[in-house]
Order: sequence, then C-alpha cells, then structure tokens
Amino acid sequence: MNLLSEVQYIKGVGPSRAKLLRSLGINTVMDLLHFFPRRYLDLTPLNFEQGHDDSVGAFPCIVADYGYEVLTRSRMRIVKIPVTDGRRKGSAVFFNQPYMKDAFKPGDKLVLIGKIRKNYGEYEILNPEWQKFEKTDYVDYARICPVYPLTKGLTQKIMRKIIKSVLQDPLEVDEVLPQSVLKEYRLMPKASALRNIHFPESWEKLTKAQERFAFEELLLFQLAMMITRRHLMGEKRKNTYKDFDLKPFLKNLPFSLTEGQKKVIKEIISDLKSDRIMNRLIQGDVGSGKTVVASIALYLAVKNGYQGAFMVPTEILSIQHGATLKKFLNPHGIKVEVLKGDMPKAVKEQILCDLEKGRIDVVVGTHALIQENVKFYRLGMVVTDEQHRFGVRQREALVKKGYYPDVLVMSATPIPRTLALTIYSDLDISVIDTMPRGRQKVDTYVVDESMRTRVYKFMESEIKKGNQAYVVCPAVEESDIGLSSVEEIGRELQDTFPHLRIGILHGKMKTEEKDRIMKDFYDKKIDVLVATTVVEVGVDVPSATLIVVENAERFGLAQLHQLRGRVGRSDLKSYCVLISGSKDMGVKARLNFMMKTHNGFEIAQKDLELRGPGEFLGVKQHGMPEFKFASLIKDLKLLETTKTLADEIIEKDLLSTHEYKGLKRTLEDKFKIV
Ligand code: ADP
Ligand code: MG
Repeated sequence: MNLLSEVQYIKGVGPSRAKLLRSLGINTVMDLLHFFPRRYLDLTPLNFEQGHDDSVGAFPCIVADYGYEVLTRSRMRIVKIPVTDGRRKGSAVFFNQPYMKDAFKPGDKLVLIGKIRKNYGEYEILNPEWQKFEKTDYVDYARICPVYPLTKGLTQKIMRKIIKSVLQDPLEVDEVLPQSVLKEYRLMPKASALRNIHFPESWEKLTKAQERFAFEELLLFQLAMMITRRHLMGEKRKNTYKDFDLKPFLKNLPFSLTEGQKKVIKEIISDLKSDRIMNRLIQGDVGSGKTVVASIALYLAVKNGYQGAFMVPTEILSIQHGATLKKFLNPHGIKVEVLKGDMPKAVKEQILCDLEKGRIDVVVGTHALIQENVKFYRLGMVVTDEQHRFGVRQREALVKKGYYPDVLVMSATPIPRTLALTIYSDLDISVIDTMPRGRQKVDTYVVDESMRTRVYKFMESEIKKGNQAYVVCPAVEESDIGLSSVEEIGRELQDTFPHLRIGILHGKMKTEEKDRIMKDFYDKKIDVLVATTVVEVGVDVPSATLIVVENAERFGLAQLHQLRGRVGRSDLKSYCVLISGSKDMGVKARLNFMMKTHNGFEIAQKDLELRGPGEFLGVKQHGMPEFKFASLIKDLKLLETTKTLADEIIEKDLLSTHEYKGLKRTLEDKFKIV
C-alpha cells in the first residue's frame, strides 16, 4: 500500500465504497489524504449540565431504559431513549427514525454528539450522532473530530474510519516545501500537517496545520503567477519607441496633470523605453483621472507607428470614451472610431476594413473588439477599462490580435494593495494617488421614504442652479417585488416637476436611443437622468452634482462608491442620497459606512470583508483558484510574506536547486508550468 494505491484496497473500502469515493474525486490514498474536513466537532466529553444550548457537544452516557415512541401534536413520530450521564437524567431524541427504538438496550454505553436542551426539567439531546463504546475506547473518540463534505451513501462515521486507518501507517508523503523554508517560517511539516488536519491532536495543532497549508497554497499561487508573467515579460519588444514628446498633447489639454497622473505616466514611459513589453495595472479612486492617462499611452503608441485598442465594459462607456479620445487625439491627426455591436452593417464593415488597412489609429469598443472578424494592421497598445468586468481571457483575446502589444489595464474598483499584488501579480501596478484640484468630498446621506419629498425639493434646487442629477433604480419596470423602477420613478418625477426635463436610461433600450439620451445628458438637454446601474462605471458628466440611489440596500459598498463617483467630478459641491427602507441593522451599518468613508480603498476593503472575494471581484473570472485554506481577506499578512518569498525564489532562481525540487514538481503538476 502506498500513496498512489487505489482506495479500493484500503481496509474497509470495497468496490462499492470505492465508487462513492470516486464520485467525490477520491481515487488514490493521496486523494483521500487531501480530502479535507469542512469543519470540526469539539468532542471533549461533557456532562449534561456542561452542555450549551446552541452548540454541539459530546455526551458520554449510559442507556437507562428501553426506547419508546411518542407521537407529537404535529403528528411527528419521535423516538426517545432514556439515558443518564451518571448524575442527571435525560433522553436521546430521534425524529422520524422509528428504527432507533430498538437500537439500544439498557446498560449500553454511548457517546451522543448533538445539541442539548432542557425540556420540562429534563435534558434532551436532539437527533444526535451516536457511537457505542467500551470504557477503553472512548478515549480514542474524545478529541477534535472532523466533519467531511460527503455524498449520499457515505457517513461521517465511515469516512472517519477509512481515513483513520490510512493515517495509522507511517505516511510516506513528499514534503513540498524546502526544509529551510519550513524552518524559517516555523511551518508544520507536511506529514504531521496531514495528520492534524484530519485528526487534530489539539486546537493549536489544527491551527498550525491550517497555516501550513495556507502558506503552501499562497506560495504556489504566487510562484505560478510570477512564472506566467515572466513568460509574458520576457517577450522582447520588436520595435523600440523613439518619440516621447508629450508637449503637443499637453498643450491641447484643458487642465494640467496631477502629480499622481504624472508619476504614472512616467512609469508607462519607462515601460515603453525598456526592451520588455508593458503589462501594467492602473489603480486610482473613482474620478482620479485614469482616462487621460490611457489617452497618453494611446497617443504615444500612435506617434510611434502603432494602432491602439480601448476595450470598455459597456456601450455607454464606449461612446463616452470615443468622444473623449476624439477630443484629445483628433487635433494631432489621430483617427479614432467606436465599434458598436449593432451598427449598420455597411458602417461596421467600413470600420473593420479601415482597421485592417491601418487607416484607423485607435478603436474603442466593448467585447465587440474581440470578435473574430476584427483585425488590426499593427496593434501595439491594448487598454482595458474597468478591468474587473473582464476576465483575463478576454484581455488575452484582444492581446492576441496584435504581435505582443503593450497592455494597460485600468481598474475601476480600487483594491487593497496586497490583494492587488496577488490577483494582478501578472501585472505591474501604478497608483494615481492624488485627485484633481478643487475636488470636494461628496456629502452622503442615508434616508428613508419619509424624506422623499425633501429629496425631490433639493433636486429641484440643484437643477435651478444649472446642475444635473442622476436617480439610480434597481429595476427597469414596475414589478411586485417592491423595487423602485426606472419607469415608475421617471413618471413620478415628470408628474411632480412638469417643467424639468427628465430622461430615462436602461440596458433594454436600443443602442441608438441610449446614445441619444446620453448625448442629451452630456449636452445638458436633460436635467435628471433616471437610470439603472448602466451608469455605474465610468460615466463622466462634470455638471452632475446629485445622485439619488433608490433601494440602496440592494447594492454592495464598492458599487455604491462607484455610483457616488458619478458626481463630484468637477469643483462643484456634490451630494449623494441613499434611499432605503430597510430596518435591518446590518444593512443600516453598511449604508452608514458610506456616510463616514470616502476613500475607495477603504470601502473596497470593507466590501471585501462583508461579501468575500468571490462576490467582490468575480474571482473565478480572474482565473483565481478558490483557496481551501488561505483567505484573501484574513491572510493579508501571509499574502505579503509568501509574495516576498516567491520574489526571492524567482530572483535567485532557486527552483532549479535540489532543495526546491518538491516545490518545482508541485508547480508543474498543479499549474502545468515551469
Ligand atoms: P476615472 O479615474 O474615474 O476614470 P476620469 O478619467 O473619467 O476618471 O476623469 C474624471 C474627470 O476629471 C473627467 O471629467 C476628466 O476630464 C477630469 N480630469 C482628469 N484629470 C484631471 C486633472 N488633472 N485636472 C482636472 N480635471 C481632470
Ligand atoms: Mg473611468
């Protein structure tokens, strides 16, 4: 018997159990050892009085009498087995398991594992797991007990027994981590970590085992990302950039760049000057001015003979960015076009043809850009905006249309640095850490329905000043689930303020109509735009000073921050009103957080804590594995530690040394790289 033996040959596992195990992905002894418990039961023996109401406890006891059946008022059949812990009387209570009546006889020794409650002065342990025992072997049972994520047909009892029998023999597992690493970071060796993850000797040892696996997971992941990235970065630039003169561009710009923008542009230029292709992420809070930085990258690309592509998540953004880029780039003889999903066929074909022939310098569009029929003459610069909406795959698809183009990724949601380093460890990171001058913080209020009239009054007064407003609703049409809808609120506002120009916008509208409405809003022909979250990211209308969010409880914090970022985009004082009727304390606390906090990084961290990385980032999209032990929220410190170590390993090329053999092999197996 060794680690690669099939489970079928383990004592107590025959062909039919082997089949069940296989359905859980367990084929070999090795797989079995890596089938980790989902949680643990504390089986320190308790007497009835020591039991807590709501937690599971383990109660050694003796059967005091024969079991009997009771019919409850709700006609449920329950079996009661009278038991005693030596001092107190109680019963084990089984619901809908009539066969339990004859499972025991007086004098049997049991350990009952379940929740205990007091009912009319008598202790009851409800639907317990149970195990008969002889005095001697309870010792064996009385410890921290694993609970596995199982499938029908396999019980916890069987699974524990199988794994225990494997663990009885000495484990010939290969240590993945080098001895020096184990020593330096005081990590539990693999064999003992495996033992303790299944049958922990103590809670402390369980923690050490979990830490060890988390360390291993993160280190492997960081290394894998770095190696992939090195493959990318290793690509030599085919043509060096020569023209870095930004003066003409800056002269045409209606504002001067912030220090943060200048710093990031320097970093981009140094990428372009180097002999490696650029893979850079730009982080910056909403409104920090990422678009102009992207424009400069595109400007330089075109000046040096390349084409550029700018991919955005929504059609509305493609229209807006198209307009911005035209404004910035056309004066320099750079031709910009927007490629839309549903353009007239002839227009589209013309654009596709011009792109391929190199007559268009910069193209802006949604995923439409990665369609097969889109071909470039000389694509050299790929920019993706609001990256978290795109998966790595989509970015790659666009990159493939060029010959190793430089890549600039703009993130909408600022994320904590350590996390960014992990998720985007295939990218260099730049942060725009200053806001344009004159920006004020957006005053934020959380109100309920009773304030609606006042909110509307306030809206009217803002518009009288010549400003504009957004109202964001979670739904498009009226429905019976009680959510505010664009159509309903739009009508209500128009009825209340016949003299105001109200526009509505949502994803179900035709592109043409969306275009027209957005254009009217930019041109101030619409005062109030009632919309769904289609305006969530990127939309830039500087004279909008008020945003009202209906059913604010429906939105995540990072999302609310993005929405709030639609206003306060000039030096005009701006406001954000979150309307919510929710009485839920958690919801209230969350919304109140928005009143106190204006820093996107802090808000992102909080959102991450509240919702977890999956929801927050669409982690799967990023090609991130779901970690079993590591937590991207709690283990920030460990993320940093493993990142530093991974850097060192790559830097010193340690993977090629004998000591790192195990690590290298695991990387090859798990990530198919190295
Ligand atoms: P985001 O970082 O959220 O994408 P944008 O790039 O849309 O922000 O910029 C927000 C607004 O700030 C735009 O109206 C833009 O023209 C303006 N802006 C950008 N940089 C500056 C600057 N240095 N000074 C003044 N306004 C700026
Ligand atoms: Mg933007």
